[in-house]
Amino acid sequence: MIPITTLKDKKVALFGLGGSGFATARALMSGGAIVTAWDDNPDSVRKAAAEGVHTADLRSEDWSVFSVFVLSPGVPLTHPKPHWTVELARAAGLDIIGDVELFVRERRAHAPGCPFIAITGTNGKSTTTALIAHILKASGRDTQLGGNIGTAILTLDVPKAERFYVVECSSYQIDLAPTLNPSAGILLNLTPDHLDRHGTMQHYAGVKERLVGGSGVAIVGVDDSFSTLIADRVERAGVKVTRISRRHPVANGLYAEGSRIVEAANGATSTIADLDGIQTLRGSHNAQNAAAAIAACLAVGLSADEIRAGLASFPGLKHRMQPVAKRGNVVFVNDSKATNADAAAPALSSYDRIYWIAGGLPKEGGITTLAALFPHIAQAYLIGEAAPAFAATLGEKVPYEISGTLAQAVAHAAADAEKDDASQVAVMLSPACASFDQYKNFEARGDAFVDHVAALEGVTMLIDPATGGK
Ligand code: ADP
Repeated sequence: MIPITTLKDKKVALFGLGGSGFATARALMSGGAIVTAWDDNPDSVRKAAAEGVHTADLRSEDWSVFSVFVLSPGVPLTHPKPHWTVELARAAGLDIIGDVELFVRERRAHAPGCPFIAITGTNGKSTTTALIAHILKASGRDTQLGGNIGTAILTLDVPKAERFYVVECSSYQIDLAPTLNPSAGILLNLTPDHLDRHGTMQHYAGVKERLVGGSGVAIVGVDDSFSTLIADRVERAGVKVTRISRRHPVANGLYAEGSRIVEAANGATSTIADLDGIQTLRGSHNAQNAAAAIAACLAVGLSADEIRAGLASFPGLKHRMQPVAKRGNVVFVNDSKATNADAAAPALSSYDRIYWIAGGLPKEGGITTLAALFPHIAQAYLIGEAAPAFAATLGEKVPYEISGTLAQAVAHAAADAEKDDASQVAVMLSPACASFDQYKNFEARGDAFVDHVAALEGVTMLIDPATGGK
């Protein structure tokens, strides 16, 4: 845990007592702050109170005694409308901050030079964050991984020189971190997303821009127009910018050329890494993630050799295009995280011959947007409520069966794939659907896929089925 010493003896109002909110309350208290916490969910309040957190309904508190208001990133700050606590905090003239801001203040106070990489973007955040942390760890660095990726930032170890922090930041967390100043900040890409919470694309982009605007080195993917403008603007403001592209060469930065990542600087280019053969980094979207990760690792002082070694041994992230097993020329891929058609597209474009397990609880639009990728599908195995609608879209274009359950789908897809003599075939769960008709969540669905695959005869597991990989 990182005790927050910068608010010692100060009275702090805190709202949101879910996982990260509760961790924040404890970190504040252990650093000597006097916390009054609340949540709209009575269960969370009860649980926190039982753990010794002072709770009180913030509606009836005197806000003039508080020094700052700490809000959980899950709670609306601006859109669709500010939460009631936000109105009260504003009326009292308080700064409204989150756990990432508390971390950056603590780092500034005690270890301002400790390497801190922050990652944001619409897609690829978790993959890039995990990849950077893996490369750093593999090189022997003391590495702390947290933020939006799942480990609350204030549960990490305290900042000190030579300790590396790799922190995934959602827009909400950036919105609540006014002085965010990573050593290296990554903005991977920007496409409309979560506009319900950010109002307009301009506001959403503005929030993301703050992360790179405050960075020592700004690493920006320039394959979309919003990010490209941000790179230019941040550079004009005097920040050192490294541009990343998966599509075209850049003058100063890193770009993908086939499977190679090329570094361009001062008119010269050199290949810094080749992703060919790294199963966990297939696809051009992963070239963007890898190039950004390489740029960040270079920025915090790793050598090219250290980076190459880390890339080659990246185990991938659970449920995201994760190769979980092999049998002959067949690789079994868990992409359970793909809960809509857009999210399934990168996986479908990353393999040429796919025995595709899809379906679940359908999302609006179904799989019509994937039509261009249908030639990659050798056969589809449809499960869950979406099966009839998906079958109608596949029509005559793609052979399919209605498998119904994941167990059937795995058994049939594996048997069919085994007869395929293409040099590499994939049996892939990339459902393009939510899981809730048959599973608790996408994680449970992915774990079930791994279990069914592990039960097949003659497969070599690439991950530990008990943990499902990292
Ligand atoms: P996030 O943390 O931003 O949600 P993840 O790393 O968890 O992103 O990846 C989720 C899914 O998004 C992946 O399964 C893949 O389909 C897609 N994806 C990953 N990286 C990118 C990228 N750079 N550009 C576009 N899509 C991506």
